[in-house]
Amino acid sequence: MSDTQIYIVNVSGGLTSFEALRRTLERYGKERTRAIFADTLIEDEDLYRFLDDQERYFGITIERVADGRTPWQVMHDERCITMQSAAPCSKILKRKLIDKVLNERYAPVTYTRVFGMDWTEMHRVDRLTASLAPQPVWFPLCEKPYVQKCDIAEYLEKIGIAVPRLYTLGFSHNNCGGGCVKAGMAHWAHLYYTLPDRYAVWETKEEEIRTYLEKNVTILRERVNGVAYPLSLHDFRLRLEAGDTSYDKNDWGGCGCFAPTSQDGLWDTSTLQSLIVPTAKKKVESGRVA
Ligand code: SF4
Repeated sequence: MSDTQIYIVNVSGGLTSFEALRRTLERYGKERTRAIFADTLIEDEDLYRFLDDQERYFGITIERVADGRTPWQVMHDERCITMQSAAPCSKILKRKLIDKVLNERYAPVTYTRVFGMDWTEMHRVDRLTASLAPQPVWFPLCEKPYVQKCDIAEYLEKIGIAVPRLYTLGFSHNNCGGGCVKAGMAHWAHLYYTLPDRYAVWETKEEEIRTYLEKNVTILRERVNGVAYPLSLHDFRLRLEAGDTSYDKNDWGGCGCFAPTSQDGLWDTSTLQSLIVPTAKKKVESGRVA
């Protein structure tokens, strides 16, 4: 790379993107580092506090961009919730939006994209690298010293920055206020038990989409004898309220805002949990709800 190459860090509001930004600034300095954040407009309020804290700590500005629509509005416009397991919301509100901003601003290949995926996510790293080629990419957390999210949380504690509250509540990511169209039953049960009002918003939005499309489309799927059936958030809540906890505790699903899927050839996000909240279930990765 030339010594004038600039490094553009995708800041998600999660722990690993904090560390990616920290390492980029450490290696290339403020002059050659940029930070960009795509706002879905349904982020957890504490995510913005975390962005503000990062700006103060590093002495930089994180550029904040937004399509102007929420994931629910995208589902409405695209007439689907997910498409062959790919999520139009992340593609449109994050990946395409940032691509557009950068393409309008910079000549191709004159900058390097930086992402917070780590050494445990090589499948995502490989897909993203291939999808963005020949655009140079860098994954600082795939290099030594290897760290886990608990290490990043410890570092934040040392420098006096609070870990984003969704992590401390046991969520595996800090995206979309703790909800996600790619999350599974265990994740949605956790949202229901932890932030029931937010679950209620997602439930209402899902019902609106179902009514609008006049189809039995749902975020959740339930497998019975190997066959997947739609399961609405409404019906899932009724089961939980009735004390039925027989849902698949391993079905955490996976938010994937910044790593490409095989379906759309683009990208997805990160993962964490037990490291930060020891009592939480196993799993790793990344919300103001309007
Ligand atoms: S976190 Fe989930 S719901 Fe939010 S934009 Fe990404 S894929 Fe869509």
